[in-house]
Amino acid sequence: MKNIKEYNLDELQNELLSMGEKKYRAEQIFKWIYVDKVKEFDEMTNLSIELREKLKQNYTMCNFNILKKQESSDGTKKYLFDVLDGNAIETVLMQYHHGITICVSSQIGCKMGCKFCASTGIKFVRSLSCGEIVEQILAVEQDIGDKISNIVFMGIGEPFDNYDNVMKAIKVINNQKGLNIGARHISISTSGLVPMIYKFADEELQCTLSISLHATNDEKRSKMMPINNRYNIQELMKACKYYIEKTNKRISFEYALAKDNNDNLDDAKELVKLLKGMLCHVNLIPINKIENGEFTKSSNENIIRFRDYLNEKGIVATIRRELGADIDAACGQLRRKNLV
Ligand code: SF4
Repeated sequence: MKNIKEYNLDELQNELLSMGEKKYRAEQIFKWIYVDKVKEFDEMTNLSIELREKLKQNYTMCNFNILKKQESSDGTKKYLFDVLDGNAIETVLMQYHHGITICVSSQIGCKMGCKFCASTGIKFVRSLSCGEIVEQILAVEQDIGDKISNIVFMGIGEPFDNYDNVMKAIKVINNQKGLNIGARHISISTSGLVPMIYKFADEELQCTLSISLHATNDEKRSKMMPINNRYNIQELMKACKYYIEKTNKRISFEYALAKDNNDNLDDAKELVKLLKGMLCHVNLIPINKIENGEFTKSSNENIIRFRDYLNEKGIVATIRRELGADIDAACGQLRRKNLV
């Protein structure tokens, strides 16, 4: 049976028409799922009993079960969801002063192999479908009884390695009759799949693009991120410039500081050279230590010095607040502890 959350509104209208139903029924169903957040077709009380029966015979609601939930003293919540085929994925909720943000996964496991990432020890299984991406948001909203205001595609997986499903999910998330989360409140992070950056630029969406940069020369970046062997920094920067030119939107560069690796002043100088004149922001991330990982967190002193140097040179840089420090909040950590 098909998961009803795999359809955007247009597709759902076509499904209803092919069942001999009126088109407007699709909007009613969409509202029950994404606004009222019901879990069963029987709760869709403005549909006839006959139609509800037809829906039950042809579709599932694909509601995720919470396998595990951890809650940090700062309000961060980490969910491990059962995706109903024996696999599990992680979703993280973070409380900020500007609202509730959730970090969604786009794949089960990840092929990219970034050395500082807890997902690296987990084998890649498959990409998530549109419905499975959207269900993470619904399941969290159902659990907390509140509305999510921001979505970041920074959980497990490389979103641009699952491009079509991620784009489709964004349209459902963004649809005013769906989850109605504005594109400006949706952020996608890529490790640097260059052809997809061009493709994304051409979509001309208002979402934010984040690039996991983490190093300023190919030697260092290739050691941290094997993707750099496929698309080096020069190619990556060229794609980023194209994106900025096309969308006139600022790129957020993620830079995880690892002790004695990429956190000294020479690195900061190289970073200034690389980004000078670009419409961008640098998000400095105190690296999370993972079991058996080869990188450790930079000292607070180094992190602040790095940020101050960038700001002095005209590159806007901020340090990401560490959330969920007392739980397994780094990407892949909860899943890795439970499944490996
Ligand atoms: S950091 Fe992101 S792209 Fe890199 S291995 Fe982890 S999940 Fe994949």
